[in-house]
Amino acid sequence: MKELIIFKEGEIALKGLNKRSFEDAFIRNLKHRLEPLGKFDYTKSQSTICAEPMSEDIDLDEAVNRCSKVFGAAALCRALVVEKDFEVICRETITHIRETAELSRTFKVEAKRSDKKFPMKSPEICMELGGRILEAYPHLTVDVKNPQMTVTVEIRDNGAYIHSGNLKGAGGIPVGTSGTAMLLLSGGIDSPVAAYMMAKRGVRLSAIHYVSPPYTSERARLKVERLCEKLAPYCGDIAFYCVPFTEIQEALRDNCPEELFTIIMRRLMMEIAQRIAEEKGIQALVTGESVGQVASQTMGAIVCTDAACRMPVFRPVIGMDKTEIVEIARKIDTFDISIEPYEDCCTVFTPKHPKTRPVPAEVEKAQNSYDFEPLIAKAVAETELKVIKL
Ligand code: ATP
Ligand code: MG
Repeated sequence: MKELIIFKEGEIALKGLNKRSFEDAFIRNLKHRLEPLGKFDYTKSQSTICAEPMSEDIDLDEAVNRCSKVFGAAALCRALVVEKDFEVICRETITHIRETAELSRTFKVEAKRSDKKFPMKSPEICMELGGRILEAYPHLTVDVKNPQMTVTVEIRDNGAYIHSGNLKGAGGIPVGTSGTAMLLLSGGIDSPVAAYMMAKRGVRLSAIHYVSPPYTSERARLKVERLCEKLAPYCGDIAFYCVPFTEIQEALRDNCPEELFTIIMRRLMMEIAQRIAEEKGIQALVTGESVGQVASQTMGAIVCTDAACRMPVFRPVIGMDKTEIVEIARKIDTFDISIEPYEDCCTVFTPKHPKTRPVPAEVEKAQNSYDFEPLIAKAVAETELKVIKL
């Protein structure tokens, strides 16, 4: 008897003529995710994708856990594949659903018959199988509107698929179908959540992080790498760029007005990010800014930051409250790492009274009073790349 994983397409099913390329991208991402567990065979038909393990020793629970983080499926489940014989179907269903049945009070049976040669029609399968389930588990009652357990039998060409209990899929669309972006990744709570949200919309992300040794420690950088590791199950492998930022920050401290320090620093971060992005053919930038959260994230500050950008900057958490961001950070398991108390380069040399309403012309003038170009070029040249793998 064999078991496999079934995925119900979400948004992919609505992609019309492009559907195939979205399905292929989804399968590619599944393969990448499942490869370390063993070999699987992938098939697709009627907005359903199946991953079937090719050997018996594969850990299917772990496979399901991994697949639940791959964007592109609305739901997934483990299904049993049995011979298309009604007696076999009844017997195997009753065994297969035991655990869920014992935890439920109400149920319904759903039947789908894509193999029209099967002698019973769907309503008949539901009736007959429902009756057998009631006999086997007399504590259950049928509730077709709001059942605690839904038992599904699909009669397909290559067998009868039995499953109960869909798990929620990751939703979204497959990573790799919506272009590329460079995420400015700090060690904080917000930017990892921003990564998750862009990946969910199919964007392939690279990450850039600025370090200022000796003001920031090696452990602070390692913390950000660990955040990338937490993000990789959702985002896929991440090219992680680490930029030495100390000299720029020191020059800024020594040459620019203190109240504009943060805003100019953010513009310089953007400049470096877009240079590397342009060099690598990456199309946009992503940050974890949320409007009004801190002085550097007022509307005025964001306008001044964007004035230094040549490429689109996406801020997927811009309209979210901290509590909403934290909720997602907990879900994707980045929260506990994010709150570890390491210094960030943003927190060294922070002005006592940052300007909350800076004007672009004033900021530009202050920034242009010092020639940052050689330091920017040096920081870009000395940037280190490490690929964080799944
Ligand atoms: P986060 O929780 O993401 O750190 P924050 O609320 O602490 O955000 P800031 O420190 O002002 O806010 O940073 C705003 C955004 O700037 C971050 O979300 C991130 O995209 C980027 N950023 C800040 N510090 C760094 C850094 N050291 N390296 C890379 N990007 C950074
Ligand atoms: Mg931060």
